[in-house]
Amino acid sequence: MSDSINDAASAVADAEIARLNRRLRRESAARHEAEAIAEHGLRDLFQRQQEIGLLESIAAASNEADSVEDAMRHALAAVCKFADWPLGHLLLVDGDASSTFDSTMIWHDGSGGRYDALRALTESIAFGRSIGLPGRVWESSAPAWVNSNSLDANAHPRLPEAEHAGLRSLFAFPVMIGTEVVAVLEFFSMKHQTPDEALLRLMGQIGMTLGRVVERRRTKDRLMHDALHDPLTQLGNRKLFLDRLQQAHLRAQRVPGYQFSVLFIDLDRFKGVNDGLGHQAGDQLIIATANRMTNSLRHIDMMSRGEGDVGGSDFVARMGGDEFTILLDNISNQWVPVRMAERLMSVMAEPFVLDEQQVIVTASIGIALSASGYTDVHNMLRDADTAMYYAKQKGRARWVMFDTAMQDNALRRLKLESELRLAQGRGELWLAYQPIVTPRDGQIRGFEALLRWDHPVYGAVGPAEFIPVAEEIGLIVGMGGWILRNACNQLRTWQQDSGQPLTMSVNLSAMQLSDDRLVALVAQTLNESGILAGTLKLELTESAVMADPDHALDIFRQLRELGVKLCLDDFGTGYSSLSQLRRLPLDTLKIDRSFVTQMDCQDDKRQIAEVVVMLAHTLGLDVVAEGAETAAEVALLQGMGVDFVQGYYYYKPMKADAAGAAWREQGVLR
Ligand code: C2E
Ligand code: MG
Ligand code: MG
Repeated sequence: MSDSINDAASAVADAEIARLNRRLRRESAARHEAEAIAEHGLRDLFQRQQEIGLLESIAAASNEADSVEDAMRHALAAVCKFADWPLGHLLLVDGDASSTFDSTMIWHDGSGGRYDALRALTESIAFGRSIGLPGRVWESSAPAWVNSNSLDANAHPRLPEAEHAGLRSLFAFPVMIGTEVVAVLEFFSMKHQTPDEALLRLMGQIGMTLGRVVERRRTKDRLMHDALHDPLTQLGNRKLFLDRLQQAHLRAQRVPGYQFSVLFIDLDRFKGVNDGLGHQAGDQLIIATANRMTNSLRHIDMMSRGEGDVGGSDFVARMGGDEFTILLDNISNQWVPVRMAERLMSVMAEPFVLDEQQVIVTASIGIALSASGYTDVHNMLRDADTAMYYAKQKGRARWVMFDTAMQDNALRRLKLESELRLAQGRGELWLAYQPIVTPRDGQIRGFEALLRWDHPVYGAVGPAEFIPVAEEIGLIVGMGGWILRNACNQLRTWQQDSGQPLTMSVNLSAMQLSDDRLVALVAQTLNESGILAGTLKLELTESAVMADPDHALDIFRQLRELGVKLCLDDFGTGYSSLSQLRRLPLDTLKIDRSFVTQMDCQDDKRQIAEVVVMLAHTLGLDVVAEGAETAAEVALLQGMGVDFVQGYYYYKPMKADAAGAAWREQGVLR
């Protein structure tokens, strides 16, 4: 009985123990599982923290990096450290049109030289789309990897060399801007590997972050480009030109014998195209000119270059409007810019086709040489500009090289401008009168009023010098009114004193001719002075009239209605056609002095004068010859039938008192 009881008891105990054991095992399994879960979670967490740390460090470095290259360098190092990869490399896609990578020399390599052969091999390969692993990444815009035991190892030219260096696997991912691959980062590892989802996602994020760096740099580059280039022609602008000029200048200071030059180019009559054919045609012309200039530069031969391997980085820029500049860098002598200027003029001579119309445009070019010893490139540019201005003045379509005489003139001109503004107020302007005589008897029949300027420092400044300045700064119209009033008042005094119908010739500038108030001014002056209208002769140069013959015709008719006489001055120096001469209501032609001077020694001059006299008389005009200085000239002129002579042979221009005394002396006119 007790045995059976004992048996029963022990059976219960065994069952209990078994149950406890089971429970223990269950609990222990659950604990293990819980621990495993906890540990896994911690590992995940750690992993996540590492990933976040990596992303943050790359983002921070990207923000701070001075260059794309620096940001990439940092990313290579950080990824290598994170994944325990010994070697990382950057490949860049150059630009939109590029079909191969720039296999850069940017690496992360802590091996101290073990991978040098692999690196050299890599840098020598032109990876295109679908060549090697980088090519596959470029093509697919997705990360990719290959292990040394891979079946398509053949498609990867570097695997044998990598294996040789103890590397078993290659992983690469793209740097993206939107959907565009702009770079590829590649990494070598010592183990075979198959990246998991998490790693791929992480590398994708790094690729986007680095893409933003490239994008930022592109925006910056574009802004820089825009700030330094002309939007119409894409040529450099003034700022960039001065920058290049400065670089050349600094080089010239370092390198003995190094020379460069500046060409300043301005299109002749661009305004005419712009006004006549419209702005769009004007723009087309500017673009076509820019292209012609850029092409001309390509043809500079090696002979033109200076010694040494400093090279020559010639540069065209648009200063604005129709002004261009060219820097000719590292030239052998001063004839290089001259030949260049000649070539520019000949390429410009080809007609342009604008809006299906042929247009001929010429250019005026100024040249400045570094050999002149500039200390400031702004001065060099200014001098090239001044030389260009001279080229314009000499009749356009030509080049002029700057010299110091030109600079002195330019300075004087600047001074004259400011002094001229004050001259009238300071009473420095006065009128001289030069008698005009009939050659048969030498009697004074009238005068020409000639403006004079006595400057307290410069002395007497000639009208040929200061009148163009007065025209340019817009002073001439005001001055012209003053001249007309004074000359007419003087004439009235002389007419009253003499009781004779003396005439007064007054010069008008081209600017006065285009001033709306001219006719009213003349009418008012006639009125106020009280002279007979027919005794006032207005002189306009042939070139001023022929610049716009229709307008001149209109004004001349109105002036004629007032009764004043009209004279074409400096005749023979402009380009009048016979038909235009017939149309214009003129009274007098004035033969230019250049045909009179030494006409007794030069047949051609005499012949021209003869033709002018005949022409004038045929048209019913009378003729004045100006600038007769000798008896021989006067005799010839008289022989030709010239009506009046004005020249030093008889009288020089004089103060009013002296001029009055001169006609009083000659007594009563016959
Ligand atoms: P212009 O109207 O043809 O004047 C004639 C010029 O020839 C004057 O020079 C006169 O002094 C000069 N001349 C006259 N006879 C002789 C001679 O025998 N030998 C030499 N060597 N020269 C002689 P000027 O006074 O220097 O004037 C030069 C030009 O300046 C004038 O040429 C005219 O175009 C302009 N000018 C002068 N005064 C005025 C003015 O009041 N208004 C305007 N708009 N222009 C003026
Ligand atoms: Mg005159
Ligand atoms: Mg004249």
